[in-house]
Amino acid sequence: MKGIITKTIGGFFFVADENNNIHKTIIRGKIQKEVFPGDYVEFYINEEVEEKVIEKVYPRDNKLNRPKIANVNQVIVMQSFEEPSFDQKLLDRFLIMVESKDIQPLIVINKYDLIDNEINMIYNVYNKTDYSLFVISVKNNQGLNKLSKKITDNINVLAGPSGVGKTSLINKLIPDADLPVKSVSENIKRGTHTTRHVELLSLENGGWIVDTPGFTSLNIDHILPQELSFLYPEFRPYLNQCKFNMCSHTHEPDCAVKKAVKNDEISKKRYQSYQLYFQELKEKEEKTYD
Ligand code: GDP
Ligand code: ZN
Repeated sequence: MKGIITKTIGGFFFVADENNNIHKTIIRGKIQKEVFPGDYVEFYINEEVEEKVIEKVYPRDNKLNRPKIANVNQVIVMQSFEEPSFDQKLLDRFLIMVESKDIQPLIVINKYDLIDNEINMIYNVYNKTDYSLFVISVKNNQGLNKLSKKITDNINVLAGPSGVGKTSLINKLIPDADLPVKSVSENIKRGTHTTRHVELLSLENGGWIVDTPGFTSLNIDHILPQELSFLYPEFRPYLNQCKFNMCSHTHEPDCAVKKAVKNDEISKKRYQSYQLYFQELKEKEEKTYD
């Protein structure tokens, strides 16, 4: 039978079959350590000893490392307008990470109920990217249907800083999930993280969503400074038009990226975040070769 691993606990692999029935299975041998939630597998049921055994793992499209999840096709990068307030630099850091894994990010900004000013500022920053941007209020059920359609049939990972409403969103989309929501003050205290297993939760109309308590480590050290510009998708059309082949798009003359910023074809705020992270990666690189 074919299925997908939804979670692994204590040496057991929980597999959802095509009818969404869950089977508690085992895997023999070393391959155990190489199988993760999101992996598609074949398993058989040995009636005699009442055992369900995975016999084959299908090749996977990709794998996130922290937490380990296979075959992710979308990462929902979530922020809130307030409590905690919107942080473009942090959002861009998440986007860079997701881009570096070659996975499609989509942006969700929650707690729309807490603001009464306009949100054009944020739209202006991202409207020259191809990213889908969803403005929602989990509390007031705003924007949830549209978001729900976008994530159906995919394996979605939910990422973002603590307190933005990730758990609340999952509980809204999947009432059965019943995950514990912390109060805002509990979120601020450190060390109050409820330990939770990585688990694929089944979406109502098909597909999966995974909350990722571990997606908070925002390590971008694996990215080389010269790769960074490719991780800003709206920069890509300009990258081979600079005067210098190895242009870093920071100080060089005749830089097509800088020109595009000047002409308002690339958002200045996105360019500023590029400069910031380029500097960070450059400093990191210099330290490594000292
Ligand atoms: P997580 O840390 O990202 O999982 O965030 P939680 O789901 O635990 O939510 C953190 C806090 O934000 C809780 O007190 C929620 O009740 C609150 N919250 C979640 N969504 C909304 C929303 O749309 N509006 C408002 N005002 N509060 C929300
Ligand atoms: Zn350039």
